[in-house]
Amino acid sequence: MAKPKVAFYWCASCGGCEEAVVDLAEDILTVTDAVDIVLWPVALDFKKKDVEAMQDNEIAVSFINGAIRTSEQEEMVNLLRKKSGLVVAFGSCAHIGGIPGLANFSNREEIFDYVYTKTPSTMNPAKTTPQTNTVVDGYELEIPEFYNTVKTLDQTIDVDYYLPGCAPPLDLIMNAVMAILKGELPEKGAVLAPDKSLCDTCPRNDSKPEKLMMSEIKRPHTVEMDPEKCFLAEGVICLGPATRSGCGERCINANMPCRGCFGPVKGVSDFGAKSLSAIASIMGIEGEEKMTDEDIQKLVDQIADPAGLFYMYSLPSSLLRRKVMK
Ligand code: SF4
Ligand code: SF4
Repeated sequence: MAKPKVAFYWCASCGGCEEAVVDLAEDILTVTDAVDIVLWPVALDFKKKDVEAMQDNEIAVSFINGAIRTSEQEEMVNLLRKKSGLVVAFGSCAHIGGIPGLANFSNREEIFDYVYTKTPSTMNPAKTTPQTNTVVDGYELEIPEFYNTVKTLDQTIDVDYYLPGCAPPLDLIMNAVMAILKGELPEKGAVLAPDKSLCDTCPRNDSKPEKLMMSEIKRPHTVEMDPEKCFLAEGVICLGPATRSGCGERCINANMPCRGCFGPVKGVSDFGAKSLSAIASIMGIEGEEKMTDEDIQKLVDQIADPAGLFYMYSLPSSLLRRKVMK
């Protein structure tokens, strides 16, 4: 019997999700025994034309990582959608925008201006920036268009399932692959990770004082953090209360606070707003019932780059999606 066909594709991302697949190590043999990989540009030499030649829905499942930033990525994911029965958004960038999505605090013009003229290592007196069409020796060269706004995968094509994380952990990848092979998938649109907050599974949760209060906000590198104590109790912002669990508390175990790469639990439409409200609800001053506007401002001023912190992984999937530029 023919094996189900599987594709992996890489859009705007760092390559960590591809590493996660390679990190399956000997488990990848279980996967390759059960499926035929028909596209994986980072590892195998299949071409776009091979995919174009397939029937619609011929690929059982495409795992697509990375956000959508260029016209080439948009074209490839549309092609894969047409040829695939299932599409899984693989990793934070495809799921909620990820770190590349922070570019939505700027626009293309600002990014090009900084990268091609202002970086200290750049010499570009003519201020040349990439153009989609360039004529060289009578030949026209075409490169993909760099879009103004970074999008999540489901803002571009229909997505069946989401595997969260930067990068998704190996157990969740294997569970997803096995569920697909056995046809035991949950309802369409599900995030293939537990629907609980990270605090629910965090080993430091029990160390939270009965009345948790942040009266000062410190940055992780300025405090010697107790490896057993909840970060919030030490005055360090941790986004665990708003983040979906399933990562194995990777950052917490490395004594770093959570930054939300798993995105929110079900039903939350704006991860940053949810995190902000979780943190705002525990801000206070010991012995004082109410905070004055001045107290609040003092605390807020201690948060370096609040938009970048609360939306570190999720700006493109937020309600605002991007900064509105003049
Ligand atoms: S806030 Fe962070 S450190 Fe505290 S219990 Fe939640 S995940 Fe753990
Ligand atoms: S602790 Fe938070 S940021 Fe770190 S891997 Fe887990 S979900 Fe992602």
